[in-house]
Amino acid sequence: MRRPMVAGNWKMHGTRASVAELIGGLNQQALPAEVDVAVFPVSVHLGQVVEGLSGGVVSVGAQDCAVEPGQGALTGEVSGEQLRDVGCKLVLIGHSERRLILGDSEEQVVRKFVAAQVAGLVPVLCVGETLEQREAGETLAVVARQLDSVIEALGVAALSDAVVAYEPVWAIGTGLTATPGQAQDVHAAIRARVAVKDANVAGALRILYGGSVKAVNAAELFGMPDIDGGLVGGASLNADEFGAICRAA
Ligand code: PEP
Repeated sequence: MRRPMVAGNWKMHGTRASVAELIGGLNQQALPAEVDVAVFPVSVHLGQVVEGLSGGVVSVGAQDCAVEPGQGALTGEVSGEQLRDVGCKLVLIGHSERRLILGDSEEQVVRKFVAAQVAGLVPVLCVGETLEQREAGETLAVVARQLDSVIEALGVAALSDAVVAYEPVWAIGTGLTATPGQAQDVHAAIRARVAVKDANVAGALRILYGGSVKAVNAAELFGMPDIDGGLVGGASLNADEFGAICRAA
């Protein structure tokens, strides 16, 4: 069976002091051994978080990586290898805030996905539709297109060392959560699309739900057959709440 995962996206939040407090709170949580837990701080806090988390229970990931591997002339960017070097194990790729606010194109998302895997990081590929697209009945087509970009460029096997996060844009940071049924429908469609190429890869692929996940709604969402955990934004900034979400997985 698939091992559940709960990932906390801290987005552009935190100072050294508040991050130290959050790490302290996380270190006190009773986290379930059967769940993979990861947090994604801003890059300048990665070293602090890697060093501060005790016991190796919580993995650390970055929120983005450069399209190019290694080192070089790419001002302002951080490569997958550099993220590995400071202790990262995972990286978010194609988060909707990067796609929609920072202009990450489909091509850049694929290049970042490749760069992550070349560096030995697990990419967490974020997909999801806007409210406009949902209302136009385009949800499955949008998600399929975002998934296909990676599958067509790299082959379906690339998903065996990756995680997918379905995050409807209209549910991110809005307090609106997809109903467990709405989320399950999209998760099942993602898995079915991968299964057409390779049933084994599809069966093993972890698909996380993201969009206003909280302690009060986590258990119901995570109870759906194709929802393998969550990508949590706002609620991951509170260690007790995040701990409760992890225990619901
Ligand atoms: C996110 O940013 O990935 C996210 C899901 O945010 P929130 O939980 O705050 O909606």
